[in-house]
Amino acid sequence: MNERESGPWFGEFGGSFAPETLMASLNELDEAWRTDGQSAGFRAELAGLLRDYAGRATPLTPARRLSAELGCEGWLKREDLLHTGAHKLNNALGQALLASRMGKTRILAETGAGQHGVATATACALLGLECVVFMGSVDADRQRPNLLRMELLGARVELVEHGQRTLKDAINEALRTWVGDPAAHYLLGSALGPHPFPALVAGFQQVIGVEARRQVLEQAGALPQVVVACVGGGSNAIGLFRAFVDDEGVELVGVEAGGEGIAGGRHAARFQGGLPGVLHGCHTWLLQDEDGQILPTHSVSAGLDYPAVGPEHAQLQADGRATYSACEDAQALEAFDTLARLEGIIPALESSHALGWVMEERAELAGKRVLINLSGRGDKDLASVFALRGKGNP
Ligand SMILES: *Cc1c(COP(=O)(O)O)cnc(C)c1O
Repeated sequence: MNERESGPWFGEFGGSFAPETLMASLNELDEAWRTDGQSAGFRAELAGLLRDYAGRATPLTPARRLSAELGCEGWLKREDLLHTGAHKLNNALGQALLASRMGKTRILAETGAGQHGVATATACALLGLECVVFMGSVDADRQRPNLLRMELLGARVELVEHGQRTLKDAINEALRTWVGDPAAHYLLGSALGPHPFPALVAGFQQVIGVEARRQVLEQAGALPQVVVACVGGGSNAIGLFRAFVDDEGVELVGVEAGGEGIAGGRHAARFQGGLPGVLHGCHTWLLQDEDGQILPTHSVSAGLDYPAVGPEHAQLQADGRATYSACEDAQALEAFDTLARLEGIIPALESSHALGWVMEERAELAGKRVLINLSGRGDKDLASVFALRGKGNP
């Protein structure tokens, strides 16, 4: 772990704005991550789980028909093929294993769309840990199949009935519960929150970039000119970007949810429409009003629908090392269809934002080698896509 990647500060961003009552738990986790988490024994055990259970390495696929259509050389990093259908299991397995080695027997987690809850419940079933997942009741209604999955996997789902009753409120509730239950581990789902979470989660996701960089060199014979990923909290993107930060010629592009457009305010594009501030223990770019009240967010994809972005992205943006753009709902839906028809891959709506950006920028990207992170598969999104198109449930 080098200094740039270990936190608590990413430039002026990050930190640990947490109540005194949480500091002991955060420090205990930081200590475990810096010692046992860096040990050869831990690394070997996690690598074994990722390989034999989760299905790593995931492939790098040349997107031949999409490339012909767009006039660039597109490569897809296939996190959609990881067990449970998205990159989230990399982090859930890593943290659950660390917690288990710390002697923890109970895991707390938040979930929005349910993907992180499913990944956490999966890791807990595998490792024999008790699992409690906090989920806003609005999200629970929208994501019933994932609720059932979590319960099937042995997790207890606690519905959160305050605030907007979505992800932000579920994180508040999980943090509050952790304060009163320091014997538990809180398994946060993205590269955000108070230190050590941004560094810890990025550390577990950087396997994506390590593999992808090696694979693209082997298969394409050269580095990509552009690396693209969608950015919700920012964990799949930072997991990919870290491997390329020192490759000066490689452009890094994060794509946020442009929703119905930045001007109308119904979006989740923190860098386009936000300001720096503090949420969930972390100083970073947020969607907030002049009084610092957190604004409601909107995206067609639940996984990008969060008012703050991970602090390492805020630093990469401040340093000019990465740029952050937005893709609107309509373009993401078009990309969803396009990849299905041209490559036989149904992408997650989140990942469709990265693809949508590539499709919109096709003129700029002509002739370039472009690496796109396919963070997850889209089976979970079929009902919402059909509902949007007025076709009812499939
Ligand atoms: C949750 C999720 C995301 C967004 O989270 P990040 O932390 O920004 O990666 C992106 N893609 C998929 C498939 C997801 O499930």
